[in-house]
Amino acid sequence: MILLNPGPVNLSERVRAALLGPDLCHRETEFADLQDEIRERLLALYDLDPERWAAVLLSGSGTAAMEAMVSSLVPAQGKLLVIENGVYGERLSKIAQIYSIAHGTLHHRWGAEIDIQRLEQTLKEDPAITHVAVVHHETTTGRLNDLATIGSLCRQHQTQLLVDGVSSFGAEALAFENWGINALAATANKCLHGIPGAAFVVVRRDSLPTNSPQRSLYLDLAVYCREQDRRSTPFTPAVQAFYGLLEALRELAEDGNWKARGEHYRRLADLVADGLHSLGIESLLPRESSSCVLRAYHLPATLNYQELHDQLKRQGFVIYAGQGGLETQIFRVSTMGAISAQDMKHFVTTIEKILEQK
Ligand SMILES: *Cc1c(COP(=O)(O)O)cnc(C)c1O
Repeated sequence: MILLNPGPVNLSERVRAALLGPDLCHRETEFADLQDEIRERLLALYDLDPERWAAVLLSGSGTAAMEAMVSSLVPAQGKLLVIENGVYGERLSKIAQIYSIAHGTLHHRWGAEIDIQRLEQTLKEDPAITHVAVVHHETTTGRLNDLATIGSLCRQHQTQLLVDGVSSFGAEALAFENWGINALAATANKCLHGIPGAAFVVVRRDSLPTNSPQRSLYLDLAVYCREQDRRSTPFTPAVQAFYGLLEALRELAEDGNWKARGEHYRRLADLVADGLHSLGIESLLPRESSSCVLRAYHLPATLNYQELHDQLKRQGFVIYAGQGGLETQIFRVSTMGAISAQDMKHFVTTIEKILEQK
């Protein structure tokens, strides 16, 4: 089965084999070595200095990393501004609400471009804002938000920038230092090609709280960071998911790192977009506003989502529905995972045949 949903992704044989590594106690040096190498490789991927930055590993899905980031980094006296233009931006607000973190939202309709003037106005008018949270690649629609511009505004207004990079880390450009990113949440099972169960936050060390009260027992980043720096771990980690992540990171480094991966994704995405366009299926967003990771397409007039999904699944492809109000309007195609141009050509001809039979 070819998975075109935005994670979990098809694994390479090499990563799959790594999952069967030896049984391991997380209090032994073998685990500490595994953890150290993952943390080093995550920072090396974007050339980050381990003196200034830490990759803090968590066991859970991407949302655990988002929740750990927001709940651990906005202090009790802080105020968060959440930029929303899709499901995951709204999820960041939900986290702030559940933890009773003072916050405001800069809401946009799903898929809309972030209004930089409104952001600037809001930051100007509300000096209480200490942190801004935004999604880099809004997987709801495939839109890649402009972190460079948002980051420079945050810097001007001396607010910290927290990023949901769950579906961009490992394939899109991320200039952590130049864009003024303070923390970024991500996961093993999207652009890195590992399995679900391992997630992480890449955080600037000086953004970690030193003596504010803990909001969460299980998701406190400062606790994880302190323990991991001592080659330890506070709780039982998802050992096998860590095995998979390490092998996936080794493979990524050999394949030429995030840039090569992003280029591969973009080639596949363009191949699909061109093929579908020739069948009269248009993408939701212009190509230059989309990530390399996922594109959303208008459903063809003659097929609803369920029919298209079921027919494709019978032929070995899993596509992804739109969320909320977009469910009846769009379908999504991710090009993450161990898949090839050949697979995507076959995908386009499969859709062509399905449309011909209507
Ligand atoms: C996938 C995704 C998440 C996390 O989803 P989980 O189901 O918790 O892994 C968060 N943000 C974005 C942008 C995503 O694409």
